[in-house]
Amino acid sequence: MGKVLIIGAGGVGNVVVRKCASVPEVFSEIMLASRTKSKCDAIANDIPGANIKTAQVDADDAKQVADLIRSFQPELVINVALPYQDLPIMDACLETGVNYLDTANYEPKDVAKFEYSWQWAYQERFKAKGIMALLGCGFDPGQTQIYVAHAAKHHFDEIHYIDIVDCNAGDHGQAFATNFNPEINIREITQKGKYWENGEWVEIDPMSIHKPIDYPNIGPKESYLLYHEELESLVKNFPSIKRARFWMTFGQQYITHLQVLQNVGMTSIEPIKFNGQDIIPLEFLKALLPEPGSLGENYTGETSIGIHMKGIKNGQEKTYYIWNNCLHQDAYKDAKAQGVSYTTGVPAMLGAKLMMEGVWSQAGVYNCEEMDPDPFMAQIGKYGLPWQEAVNIDLPHEYPA
Ligand code: NDP
Repeated sequence: MGKVLIIGAGGVGNVVVRKCASVPEVFSEIMLASRTKSKCDAIANDIPGANIKTAQVDADDAKQVADLIRSFQPELVINVALPYQDLPIMDACLETGVNYLDTANYEPKDVAKFEYSWQWAYQERFKAKGIMALLGCGFDPGQTQIYVAHAAKHHFDEIHYIDIVDCNAGDHGQAFATNFNPEINIREITQKGKYWENGEWVEIDPMSIHKPIDYPNIGPKESYLLYHEELESLVKNFPSIKRARFWMTFGQQYITHLQVLQNVGMTSIEPIKFNGQDIIPLEFLKALLPEPGSLGENYTGETSIGIHMKGIKNGQEKTYYIWNNCLHQDAYKDAKAQGVSYTTGVPAMLGAKLMMEGVWSQAGVYNCEEMDPDPFMAQIGKYGLPWQEAVNIDLPHEYPA
């Protein structure tokens, strides 16, 4: 039993609060804080019977976060604001001696670049303070790495190839919308792609490698090779990996809109002068687009996120596929959310629960694959994201002889 402070009242924050409130034996008191307090109040007031405190906080300011932590005294802070706030919130946790969990790695606002170096640099300070930071505990990053840890523990002696395959075959009925924060989403997709092969990173032009991949219950969908943050920690923690790639589906309508927006300069993060005022085109675009949290009600279809793996077990080649399919309608029924917010928020709650219970408990800064996967894998189905697996099937990738 303990107190949790959740920062960020967007699409993912809504799910994390609802799922934590459904486990009161662990999360006995919840505070939801965000930049706009009215959004916290709207979520809190919509959860019957739950005792959820709310607060306003600018999490770019470590001092404000530290003051809030001191007044509420949580055991854990769940950061589901934006990646820009990761470091100030980690600073506040260090100052006050409180554990930390997030779902996306830090990126500086003025450079569209994400990597773990900034957060890994907190390792010694978190250890010295005796507190834990669990990085990237959503679905991808997050559950995907726990899948790899599970495969490494139960299916392989060595994993050689991983392909993370992320499909959203849902329809939200909007001409163009992103499923998580538009600014972060568009920064991720418009930057160069990258994958790991034979000990080095191979960089490619954005969206330049793609192919149809068959997803369970969905069928073939064009999937694009992107760089994704969990590749960085997976190749570090599993040095036997020879190639690691990440694939994500996009519909033609989404790509056409994105190309037009890019061509006219709307996805730029360089400030421009407009009527005497500095504006950042991508931030302005975000203000025009639907909020991710608002997409849930009419969303149909499903997501399918999993990993194709190939490696060696007992001297024999082995393939393994593990995945979850999540219906947008089910996500809405359970947490008034669309599937992408839901598949992020549920693993964040379970990671937080395991930390609060002391099951995942180690001073320092960790990625999800460094935790024992068993307790997570045993419970995640019960909270809404059951997994399925297939052994020694043909995988849709080329492998060196
Ligand atoms: P939203 O844009 O819906 O929500 C972000 C929330 O953070 C908003 O409530 C926003 O406040 C708040 N916020 C922004 N800046 C500040 C600040 N300075 N201080 C306090 N609060 C702030 O995004 P999502 O919910 O879709 O995404 C949340 C996080 O989850 C992101 O980091 C995203 O990258 C990550 N994510 C991870 C995934 C995974 O699988 N691992 C998948 C999807 C998302 P306001 O309402 O005022 O704007």
